[in-house]
Parts: sequence; structure tokens; C-alpha cells
Amino acid sequence: ESELIARRDEVLGGSYRLQYRRPVHFVRGEGMWLYDPDGRAYLDFYNNVPSLGHCHPEVNAAMAEQAGRISANTRYLEPKLVDYAERLVDTFPSELDRVVFTCTGSESNDLALRIARFASGNEGVIVSSYAYHGTSAAVAAVSPNLGDAIKLSPFVRMVSLPGPAGVLESQAADFFEAQVRAAIVDLNRRGIGVAALLIDSIFSSDGVWVDPPGFIARGVAAVREAGGLVIADEVQPGFGRTGAHMWGFERHGIVPDLATLGKPMGNGFPIGAVVGRKAPMEQFGATARYSNTFAGNTVGIATADAVLAILQRDQIPQKALAMSQRLRAGLEKIAQQPYGVRAIRNAGLFFGIDIGLDGAPAASRRAMALDVVNAMRDDGVLISTTGANEDSLKVRPPLVCQAEHVDLFLAAIERALIKVAG
Ligand code: PMP
Repeated sequence: ESELIARRDEVLGGSYRLQYRRPVHFVRGEGMWLYDPDGRAYLDFYNNVPSLGHCHPEVNAAMAEQAGRISANTRYLEPKLVDYAERLVDTFPSELDRVVFTCTGSESNDLALRIARFASGNEGVIVSSYAYHGTSAAVAAVSPNLGDAIKLSPFVRMVSLPGPAGVLESQAADFFEAQVRAAIVDLNRRGIGVAALLIDSIFSSDGVWVDPPGFIARGVAAVREAGGLVIADEVQPGFGRTGAHMWGFERHGIVPDLATLGKPMGNGFPIGAVVGRKAPMEQFGATARYSNTFAGNTVGIATADAVLAILQRDQIPQKALAMSQRLRAGLEKIAQQPYGVRAIRNAGLFFGIDIGLDGAPAASRRAMALDVVNAMRDDGVLISTTGANEDSLKVRPPLVCQAEHVDLFLAAIERALIKVAG
């Protein structure tokens, strides 16, 4: 094992990180479970990509069937491409009725920024202060979470979120609007103007700040007033992650101009999309060229089509919402014990759980969160951390988790907390 780690470090160029102090190797996945070479099972409460569960047989069958017939691009007539595009936009509010396919969440955001800049004639982008929006040079430049890239971006403005700033929920909308308006004033003063407010409506990398629903709405309106577009990054909250709604922006009662999709769209197959309003999408399409070799290929579409059909047929978001309530109730009970659980936040099956004693220094809270993550890994349950200080546990199981999985998770997190806090 240590030899493999050394070879890996040598050949993979340093930008890859292993998760967990004791790295894991998985050889098989099924539903909620991952298996190591010795056959030990790990409960996956971290991976939101296979939201229908690992290696879903129907999804895999659709993928294999199409791969066995033809893998072709979007320049040929393909009824399934059009059928799926129609079914996908049908899950959005009626204003959002155009779609362009991509291969990843990063490509979706990259394209959305191009469209927003094209449509607005402006350059400026407003993001939350610990946002992550992807890997390309353009979206890394609007991802403060990455550290250095943002320093090279004179056209980006970061806004603080009310939750991490300690603002009361009753004042959250005022606070957010004021932040956005200040960013707009500054961008306009420098002649940059606002092209887009780009937001992940559950603020996953900022530490999962979901409440109160609606707090972003007036900031959204301010951006529109200033001639900018609103881009909802649905890579994390989309496809039913937040439970009651298919799309995260719906929780906030807003309709964006563009929505960017990725991660769970193919349950593991790389496919993403930008869904948007007709005006900016057609304006862009009429003038600019967007050609993406693999995006919308027949295998990706067959896979995504199966994913969406199963999500709707099996009422996965609705069931996930019920499971999220069970998980929340269990966590609240655990939080009453003196284990150092400071706060629990969630929208559907996406949880942020703040760890560390009140008043403890940031470094010790972070260390404690990391200890909990690793204790749970040793116990066979997979989660991770999030937030500017990485002291919140990030918990987002596949949406198909059942009561028995929730109960196993709750028992494991309590054991880990006792071990770490005790
Ligand atoms: N947006 C958000 C909110 C994300 O969390 C991520 C990935 N973690 C991305 C965009 C980028 O997606 P991808 O890695 O598929 O390019």
C-alpha cells in the first residue's frame, strides 16, 4: 500500500489528494455500499454523484445498450437527444426552455459565464466568499475556494453570506441584498459592470448555508436591475438533492436566467448541461459557436435519460426528503449530548454539521472535524468536511438511502463523536 502511494505521488504530479488518513481502495459498488478488496463494506454517505446508488443496474443497462449500438455526436439526427432535452427542460419553470449539453459541471459554468457576458455586455461576476464553481481557467477565476486563482481576477466580487457572518435569519435577506448592491456599485464604478451573479443555492463549499429559504431573492433582483444575469449552479443542489424540489433555486422562490447541471445527471457518467431562458441562449447561439465533442453524445444521453426516468418514476426526491427528516431528527438528538455538535443545517439530503466546542479556536474545531471523519472511515462510513474553516461535516448520501442506512449512519456518527470528544 505505501509503495502504491509513493508511485502515485511520483507519477500523478502532485495535484491529486487522497481522502482519509488511511486511504481506501474500492473494487465494487452497489447501492449505498462500497467494497474494498477484502470484501469489507463501507456505507457511502458522501457521494452525491451516484444519487440513484452505485452501479444502478437499469442505468448501466441503458448505458451499455447504447454503447453497444453506437456512440455518436450531436451533429446527426437523434430522436433521443431531442426527447431527453424536452423532458429535462420540462422539469424547470416554463421560462427556462433551452438546453445545451456539456460533459462536466465546470464546462456548464464556463459556458454559462460566456452566455451571461455575451448577453449582458458586461464582465463582472459576483460569487459567495468561499464558492467553488469548477476547473477551467474561467471558472477557477470565480472560485474563491481555490485560494490563489481569485487574486488574478479583477472582475470578480465576493459577497459574504449572512449565516457565516453571524447575521440573524430575520436580517439575512437585507444583509445579502446589501452585499450584492455594494458589489454592483463597485463593478459599475470601475467600468466593469455586472455580467452575472453565480450562486450555488445551498452554498455547499461555503459550509451548507441554506436558511432562511428566500434570503437570496432580493439580491437576485438587484443583479437583474443592474443588467446582469442570474446563474444558478445546480451541480450540487440539482436533481432532487434538496428533497422537496427538483432544483435548488426553487427553495428560494427565484427563477434564474441560466441553470448549470452536472454531477448526478448521469449517476457517474460525465454529462452536464446549461438550461436557460430563450433570449440569452438564442442570442449566444446565433452568434457564437459552441462545439463540444463528447457533450450530448448518444451514450451520455441514453444514460441521463435513464437517470431522469428512474428519478421521476421512483419518486426519489420525495423519498429522500422523508429520509432527510429522519436523519435530521436523529442528529438533533445527538446534538443534545456534550459531543461538540454546534449546529446542524440541511436542505434535503445535504447536511452541514458544525463540529467543535463553542469558543474553541478554529484550528481545534477543524482538527476535531477531521478526527470525526477519520474515525467514521475506520468504522466503515464515508463522509467529509466543508466550509471556510473545514470544520463542518459534509454529509450527502445517495438519494436512495433507506431508514436502515440512516440508522447505521446515526449510530456511527455517535460512536465517532464519543471517541473524539470523550
Ligand atoms: N459547481 C459546484 C457547486 C461544484 O461543487 C462542482 C464540483 N465539485 C463544480 C461546479 C464542478 O463540477 P465538475 O467537477 O463536474 O467540473
